[in-house]
Amino acid sequence: MTKKNAVNSELKKDDLIVIGGAGGFIAGSLARYFHNRGFTRIRAIDKKPLPEWYQRVPGVECLCMDLSIEANCRKACEGAVEVYNLAADMGGMGFIERFRIECLRSILINTHMIESAWRAGAKRYFFSSSACAYNTDLQKDPKVRALKESDAYPAMAERGYGWEKLMSEMFCQEYWAERGLKTFMARFHNVYGPWGTWDGGREKAPAAICRKVIEAKDTGNTTITIWGDGKQTRSFMFIDDCTKGIDMIMHCEDLIATPINLGSHELVSINKLVSIVEEIGGTKLKREYDLDAPKGVAGRNSDNRMIRKILNWEPDTTLRDGLKATYKWIEQQYMARKAGRQIVI
Ligand code: NAD
Repeated sequence: MTKKNAVNSELKKDDLIVIGGAGGFIAGSLARYFHNRGFTRIRAIDKKPLPEWYQRVPGVECLCMDLSIEANCRKACEGAVEVYNLAADMGGMGFIERFRIECLRSILINTHMIESAWRAGAKRYFFSSSACAYNTDLQKDPKVRALKESDAYPAMAERGYGWEKLMSEMFCQEYWAERGLKTFMARFHNVYGPWGTWDGGREKAPAAICRKVIEAKDTGNTTITIWGDGKQTRSFMFIDDCTKGIDMIMHCEDLIATPINLGSHELVSINKLVSIVEEIGGTKLKREYDLDAPKGVAGRNSDNRMIRKILNWEPDTTLRDGLKATYKWIEQQYMARKAGRQIVI
């Protein structure tokens, strides 16, 4: 018999949901998630011009605004019942190790969004934090023990990106403590799936490896370059688990002002990830290791005891299933681009 979880959403179908960063991967998928569940008033915001948004969901209001500017956040949050802030200047290791200032500047987005949400009388506020908020000293061994929520302190977060997340979490906690705004924070662990960045320098390992395998097959190149020695370990969460998890966390009273892991606990090495993608693509490539490339911490996994206990659920799409869907989508994008077409799904 399954235990009933503590989620109880009172959100009405015509309540206004505001989603920041919705031209990007996760927030775009979140807009689609709420739309598919029958919510009729969704306002999606991103600073990117509309043609560059990964997804534009029919019926969703799409606004191009820079949310690091306070006046824009005021406009964005007008009339909001729930605000989801997923806007951030970010990317994979290649980006966050090189552009720490850009990453730190995202603090302006959360600072103005949370104040604007509170002023607008929003009932709930969500902030997308990250596993990069965890103490890096605990992530030096590929055979890591999974990170539990209390491991963020004493703080020694990833420079730049991770510290921005920690500080923004603190804002969320204080808005609850001092001003009574119900805030929710999920520490995402490596999210991947269709509609994610797959080239250009901001892509994460699963998408990058799918693209490299597809490219190798297409060009006849038999070698794949892997960043680092391939022994670094990670867990990867499929996008559908992420959107479902955000909804559950946002509507759980036991999680107010409490950061929680949202990630898979299926730990794999990058070498194993490459093998799975090769199997999906039906090929086997010669591996070359670029030891000078950014590789991040040695190992990282999500300890899911807290989410299991509180929500009676955890992300459960297997890596193989999630990668199959991702590979197929990236292959379509790759082929469409090669043929000079833009794919609209
Ligand atoms: P993404 O880059 O696809 O989306 C972020 C979006 O925010 C982009 O479209 C970008 O244009 C927008 N943005 C940046 N600055 C902005 C501004 N000033 N005003 C308005 N929009 C702005 O990234 P994503 O993977 O969808 O990540 C969403 C959130 O989840 C981010 O906060 C990120 O830090 C967090 N996160 C993601 C992962 C992951 O694996 N993808 C892991 C941990 C945390």
